[in-house]
Amino acid sequence: MNYNFAERVSQMESSVIREILKVTERPEVISFAGGLPAPELFPIKEIKEAFCEVLEGDDPSALQYSTTEGYLPLRGYIAARMREKGVEAGPDNILITNGSQQALDLLAKLFVDPGDVVLVEKPSYLGAIQTFRSYQAGFCPVPTDDQGIDIDALELAIKKQNPKMIYLTPTFKNPTGVTMSLERRRAAADLLGKYGVPLIEDDPYGDLRYSGEPLPPVKSFDDAGRVIYLSTFSKTIAPGLRLGWIVAGRELIRKLVLAKQGTDLHTGTLVQRAVYRYLEKTDVSGHVLAIRREYGRRRDIMLEEMRQNFPEGISWTRPDGGMFLWVTMPEHIDTIQLLERAVEENVAYVPGAPFYTDREGLNTMRLNFSNSTPHQIKSGIRRLARLFASCLH
Ligand code: PMP
Repeated sequence: MNYNFAERVSQMESSVIREILKVTERPEVISFAGGLPAPELFPIKEIKEAFCEVLEGDDPSALQYSTTEGYLPLRGYIAARMREKGVEAGPDNILITNGSQQALDLLAKLFVDPGDVVLVEKPSYLGAIQTFRSYQAGFCPVPTDDQGIDIDALELAIKKQNPKMIYLTPTFKNPTGVTMSLERRRAAADLLGKYGVPLIEDDPYGDLRYSGEPLPPVKSFDDAGRVIYLSTFSKTIAPGLRLGWIVAGRELIRKLVLAKQGTDLHTGTLVQRAVYRYLEKTDVSGHVLAIRREYGRRRDIMLEEMRQNFPEGISWTRPDGGMFLWVTMPEHIDTIQLLERAVEENVAYVPGAPFYTDREGLNTMRLNFSNSTPHQIKSGIRRLARLFASCLH
């Protein structure tokens, strides 16, 4: 059947890379490609107890439709956590979403008309690029370095492009692991006040720090009320819960509520209540500390293995947290072509090009260190090192 799809559907492409990566489901393949947390660290027992306790209360409202804004005690808990990070927020400033991916979709639905420009970092989170693209956004990629987005380039782009919004992942960015410096956070917030542009601060990884000092979110410097902050329980509890949140001014929250009503009415009542119960009765900071210790160890093992085995001419980032690091190969290497050979060697990564909106980054790749055991990390990096050596000499 030939469907007469809406024009925006032409922007939704399935990718060659996804096809190649399908084989990574084979057990012999060590995959650094996905963005998955370590499943052995999921608090299954505690989550099971929390669900049971909510249902044992025999309160049918746990299974009933509920408000679009989200479960009030959960919003209160999140608001209190945001205040600890220096963000002034009450429950009315919070909207519970089906993961922060839904938050990106709702924001695009509210802000992006076809052809509107979104400023993104170069490179930027693929899932955000795809969502904005599905609303027919145009992109202006802004250069970044090891301190995050280049502020002068950002200001120039704002002046030249008159963007509808800016999208940043300031902390342990997906895909590079880089963190924006304190000075640049302040400077970015100042620009928003000066030019009146909204900024989406996407912060799924902020709590996963393994070295260095915590930094306040850009939102904490947001005197002009322009920053829309997103986060999620996907990385600190479990992504299958599909529970995230938006922090914004009340007026914007009201508009987001309207957008969400048309999408799914509300986030699951039972899951919100169970997660709130879990948060209330568990030592959550102890749980997050255990994740940080383990991921920090895996990051260190990956970095050390790369240092010892990767041939000269290759560089990589050394992130203070998150789940990814970023490798830059010599200019002539095409990491999409190389992926087929890597998969033959039973190791996988994500080529960097899809994280760019302007067909750059062909010689880059993203490696995930949270979802492989230390033993797998050592073997996988050695396999990559052998492959790299063979194509560089
Ligand atoms: N933003 C970024 C930067 C991410 O890396 C991810 C997850 N890969 C998301 C948003 C979506 O997360 P969630 O599970 O909360 O939808």
